[in-house]
Amino acid sequence: MPTISFEYFPPKTADGKTALLERTTPALQALDPGFFSVTYGAGGSTRDSTFGVVSALRERDIDVAPHLSFGGDGEDTIRDLLQRYREMGVRRLVALRGDMPSGMGGASQLVYASQLVSFIREHTGDHFHIEVAAYPEIHPQAESYDSDLRFLKEKLDAGADSAITQYFYNVESYFYFLDQCAAIGIDKPIVAGIMPITNFANLARFSRNCGAEIPRWICQRIEGFGNDQESIRQFGIDVVTQLCQTLLESGAPGLHFYTMNQIEPTRQIRNNLGL
Ligand code: FAD
Repeated sequence: MPTISFEYFPPKTADGKTALLERTTPALQALDPGFFSVTYGAGGSTRDSTFGVVSALRERDIDVAPHLSFGGDGEDTIRDLLQRYREMGVRRLVALRGDMPSGMGGASQLVYASQLVSFIREHTGDHFHIEVAAYPEIHPQAESYDSDLRFLKEKLDAGADSAITQYFYNVESYFYFLDQCAAIGIDKPIVAGIMPITNFANLARFSRNCGAEIPRWICQRIEGFGNDQESIRQFGIDVVTQLCQTLLESGAPGLHFYTMNQIEPTRQIRNNLGL
C-alpha cells in the first residue's frame, strides 16, 4: 500500500496556526495519511515556529516529521532540537541542506544533507526514520545529473531510509530517475512529491527557482482560462489526479502532498484516487 503524507509550512500568525490545527488538520487527517511533515525555514529561520507546530501535532497524537537543516546553527543547537523531538515522540525527520535566506549570500557555509544524516545517526542511533530530498529534474545547483544522483546515494548510504522528491509534472522524469537510481545501486523508496495547482502565478515563480518544470501545455491551458478561476481549479485537479494515478499504477511507493496548508485541492485529488 503506497504511503500518503501531507506537508505543511509553519504559519506566520497565531490565527494561521489555529486554522491549521483546528480546521485543516482534522480535515486532512480524515484522509488517513501516514504522517504529516512541517518545513523548516531557510537558514533555520522558522526553528521555533516549526517546533511549535510539531509539538501541537504531537499533543494531538499525530505522527509528524519535522524538516531539519543546520542552516546557520551549530551542532549544540541541532543536538538539542533532536533531543526535544525525541522526547515528544517524533520518530521521523526530513533531513536537508536547505538554502540560505534570500539576501544572505551564497551557499558556501551550508552543511550538506548527507552530513546532517550522519550527524543524526551519530547522536540518535536508529531512533528516527530519516527522509532526504531527491530531484528527478535535478537540483538547480547540481554540477551534473550524475553528480546529483551520486550525492543522493551518499545521503542514503549515510543512513537515510527513504527519499521524497521535489514536485514534477513530467511523469517521465520520475520514472527515468528511478531507473538511474537503480542503476547506481539505490534500492530505498523514492516517494513522489506532489504539488497541487493552487495559485498558478506563485507556482510558476517558485518552479523557476527550484528547477521544477511546468510543461508548456499546462501553462498554455491555464493562460487560456484567463480569470476563470473555477476552470483553472478544475483543470489543476484533473491534471494532478491523472499524474498521481499514473504514478500509483506504475508502482510509486508513496505520494507526498505539498498541501500549502490548504485542505483543497489535496482532499479532492486524494478522494479521486479512491485508495
Ligand atoms: P543536498 O542533498 O545537500 O544537495 C545540495 C546540492 O549540493 C545539490 O546540488 C547536490 O548535488 C550538491 N551536493 C550534495 N552533496 C555534495 C557534496 N558532498 N559535495 C558537493 N556537492 C554536493 N528547503 C527548506 O529550506 N526547508 C524545508 O523544509 C525544505 N523541505 C524540502 C522537502 C523536500 C521533500 C524537498 C525535495 C526539498 C525541500 N527543501 C526545503 C528544499 C531544499 O532545502 C533545497 O532544494 C536545497 O537547496 C537543497 O537541499 P538538499 O537537502 O537536497 O541538499
